[in-house]
Amino acid sequence: MTSIGFVGLGIMGGPMAGHLVKAGHKVTVYDLNPASVDKLTTLGATGGSSIAETVRDKDFVITMLPQDEHVESVFTEILEHAATGTVYIDFSTITPRTAEWTYTEGVKKGLRVLDAPVSGGEPGAINAALSIMVGGNEADFETATPIFETVGKTFALVGPNGAGQVVKAANQLVVGGTYALLAEAILLMERLGADAEKGLDVLAGGLAGSKILDLKRKTMLERSFAPGFRIDLHHKDMGIIIAAARQAEVPIPMGAQVAQQIAAARAMGHGSLDHSALLLVAEALAGR
Ligand code: NAD
Repeated sequence: MTSIGFVGLGIMGGPMAGHLVKAGHKVTVYDLNPASVDKLTTLGATGGSSIAETVRDKDFVITMLPQDEHVESVFTEILEHAATGTVYIDFSTITPRTAEWTYTEGVKKGLRVLDAPVSGGEPGAINAALSIMVGGNEADFETATPIFETVGKTFALVGPNGAGQVVKAANQLVVGGTYALLAEAILLMERLGADAEKGLDVLAGGLAGSKILDLKRKTMLERSFAPGFRIDLHHKDMGIIIAAARQAEVPIPMGAQVAQQIAAARAMGHGSLDHSALLLVAEALAGR
């Protein structure tokens, strides 16, 4: 039986850890929020009393945390307490630079390290249908493949450590842009008297169709913005994208525009709403 220490049981990490429990692994879980731990222990996980206890003597240690600073802090404890040979998988979305740091520091302690950010949102996590972009070496990727198969549907090794985060940045660029344009399209149809619900059905069947349109068109039309993926987290991701673009010397004018729309959503107090709340920014710009 594979032993796994899992830290970070939020919107994504909770269901992902649940799949690993259901797959028959011996999973120890930890989160700052005790209610999230309780949900997992009900399914058969063991609640860790600390990060140290959660990550000690495990085959795999997994994190699914909000951003760089959380990964840096938890990984510092992992470095101290995880056994040599442990495979560390970070599913969080963070900067490629911090992912590379986990690799260089991890290797010094005999850890095997993979950055493996995911796409697919909360439904992807709940349905074990995530898309996973993995940075690391071939041997570690192969060792971790049963984990990826348990929580995801599509996964690939996309380059050395840090490359998973680069591909995730590209993913978030497209997702943010899609939401921003979908918001404008909805507003346009509504203000010009078309039936936006039927309009979106037709869009979904044509070249404008997308998973985002399938998943979110109903809730966007209803102005229902429970997260999902919080505006605050997409704001963090836009920062990662802009820094990566600067490093690559690739201008991203469209991405910069989307970053400003997301910053506006936060400034309007919508940071904890779903990123489909970009519709509220489009509405504010339209003046009513
Ligand atoms: P979340 O805020 O719902 O969950 C994060 C969890 O980490 C929380 O339960 C929090 O208590 C816990 N945590 C924070 N610091 C901790 C610490 N020091 N020790 C233990 N637990 C700690 O976030 P989420 O939506 O699950 O996202 C997690 C990551 O996945 C982020 O990097 C996000 O960008 C990425 N992501 C999210 C989605 C999505 O749709 N929500 C999709 C793809 C990727």
